[in-house]
Amino acid sequence: MEVNKGKTQIEAVQKDIWAPEYFGDNPDLYNVHEVKRLVHLAPVEKVLNMARAHSIWPLGFGLACCAIEGLMAAQGPRYDLSRFGYEVLRNTARQADVMLVAGTVTTKAADFVVRLWEQMSEPKWCMAIGGCAISGGPFVDSYHVVPGVNKLVPVDVYVPGCPPRPDAVLDAFLMLRAKILDKREYLQRSKGKVVTG
Ligand code: SF4
Repeated sequence: MEVNKGKTQIEAVQKDIWAPEYFGDNPDLYNVHEVKRLVHLAPVEKVLNMARAHSIWPLGFGLACCAIEGLMAAQGPRYDLSRFGYEVLRNTARQADVMLVAGTVTTKAADFVVRLWEQMSEPKWCMAIGGCAISGGPFVDSYHVVPGVNKLVPVDVYVPGCPPRPDAVLDAFLMLRAKILDKREYLQRSKGKVVTG
């Protein structure tokens, strides 16, 4: 008796979800819903994310000392960011998928930081490199400094330090790769870890 009741309830729910009446007199809505039910795009997204995670194209622009101390040093022969395939810094936002905010964001620079972010196509990510980009750093009390680039754009990875070590920047790229691949275990292990070199 209970089983039959459950079955009836399930049928009622299915009817509610899939019946054309549910979508009123708009047949297009029904078709979109039906296509979504029949075509599973999740594996395609997974393959695309594998490609994205292994060929990150950062946007090359530096705002202050962090760009030289952390970012450029990470690209040099000693740390060699190109080992991971991330060395192709783009000079136009339209060809980049990761914005590296390295240095102090002044209120004067805030406009073009946001404009560059908006010029990047989806999906896109952002790294805040150094104390200034994270929170305003030593200049946080200045009238002209934005206290953290997360006030302007969403940040995915924070790289602490004034300046951060180049190996911390490398680690940040690996964390971003794990995030794109949705590797929760790796991110959990890295939680609270600070690379000091
Ligand atoms: S965090 Fe330190 S090294 Fe980086 S931009 Fe600010 S003052 Fe310069």
